[in-house]
Amino acid sequence: MKPVGVMPIPKDAQERRSIAPVICYPTDTLPKHDAAFYKLAQKGMALINSVIVLPRDGNTVEVTAGHIFRIVSMEGSQVGDLNLWNANDLNEKFYSGKTRALHGTHVGVGDKLWSSFPAMRPMATIIADTLDWYGFDEDGASVHDVIGTRCDPYTNNILSGGQYHLCCHSNLTRALAASQGLSLEQAEPLVHDVLNIFMCTGFTKKTHQYFMKESPVRPGDYIDFFAEIDLLVGLSACPGGNCGSKHSSNVANCYPLGIEVYKPMTDLKKWKHSKVNSYDGTHGQKK
Ligand SMILES: [Zn+2]
Repeated sequence: MKPVGVMPIPKDAQERRSIAPVICYPTDTLPKHDAAFYKLAQKGMALINSVIVLPRDGNTVEVTAGHIFRIVSMEGSQVGDLNLWNANDLNEKFYSGKTRALHGTHVGVGDKLWSSFPAMRPMATIIADTLDWYGFDEDGASVHDVIGTRCDPYTNNILSGGQYHLCCHSNLTRALAASQGLSLEQAEPLVHDVLNIFMCTGFTKKTHQYFMKESPVRPGDYIDFFAEIDLLVGLSACPGGNCGSKHSSNVANCYPLGIEVYKPMTDLKKWKHSKVNSYDGTHGQKK
């Protein structure tokens, strides 16, 4: 937390503070969200695969570019931590910090999930969300954040001590290793900051600390993503359950989550596969 008033306050402090904010990354130059196209893709889509993510565990599923995947709440209020990789190159992975910089602290329909440098391109587009009614509440909280990093055993060890093995970071590491035939040592560096599905979070008004509150998700709620490239999707059912009290422990009630994969039945010829970023990669150095 930032200490205030340690140093002398300048005479023009108020004037300096009253300067209007400027959006760092205006997105007006990005292609507009084509809601009609994605609605067409969803019309009559056929379920072709589904996997269960067990409580306090992780799982993965491959999703072909142009298909849709749905994350669904099944038996109880439960939060999920999402990782995305390019199915053909696991080094290209979801970049939550850049997604936050472009779309804000919480994402919703029309927002893209962007990948890491140097590809930096849309990996998926959010196309449906049954919790879109929530908006921002009086505490400034909302659902589906790209603020939190993922619960992990290292932070837990520093703050609480002990060895807890079922954090989202570990669940994603085990799931990725199992699905790709990797050792845990190979898989762990590929696990990255997440999209917190269904999690309700914000920053406290006074200290601007990251907070969580009980998720408003209920069984049957879902969020749909359109895969803009071939994806490997990883999901952890957070040990915090609805994250209303505690995570990184076995105290909370914890429930499974479903990942369903759908194939559009309509002609998507208007859709173009997401292309890698066209920055030339020279970083100012002459070849
Ligand atoms: Zn977690």
